[in-house]
Amino acid sequence: MTETQNNVRRSILALTFPPLFSGRPIMCNLAKHYELDFNILKASISPRREGKLVLELSGSEEEFQKGLSYLKEHGISIAKVSQQISRDEDSCVHCGLCTALCPTQALSLDHETRHVLFDVEKCTACGACTRVCPVHAMRVDVDDTLW
Ligand code: SF4
Ligand code: SF4
Repeated sequence: MTETQNNVRRSILALTFPPLFSGRPIMCNLAKHYELDFNILKASISPRREGKLVLELSGSEEEFQKGLSYLKEHGISIAKVSQQISRDEDSCVHCGLCTALCPTQALSLDHETRHVLFDVEKCTACGACTRVCPVHAMRVDVDDTLW
């Protein structure tokens, strides 16, 4: 899923690193040279074996493209992740924090019940709510066929 807002590109990507790649500061360089932010959602990296990372990457469109080129130049394959957001209904405490950030109103407050409603049909899986939820009720479900 990809989202562009205020010229900021945000995507959740699956990266596959060639064997013998561990220990090289690829992700640090990506952040440092291209001013991209990343948030690792899932990782599987073993010495001398192919490594996999699922991460949310964001930054300006121009730097985003340069960052992708940098990864490809280093032999890292990139795939978009088919993923979706789900809510753990037992964990949600209906604090309302996520409703202020949700760009599509997929999360909204029911003023009568004071409960936060989640309409999955409106969700674009931008991931904003997963970063603010204090009890980690909002989760990115990464496609397990990638592993
Ligand atoms: S931030 Fe988390 S706990 Fe608060 S309403 Fe949203 S999903 Fe529920
Ligand atoms: S990921 Fe969260 S913040 Fe983003 S659209 Fe979906 S519910 Fe709203």
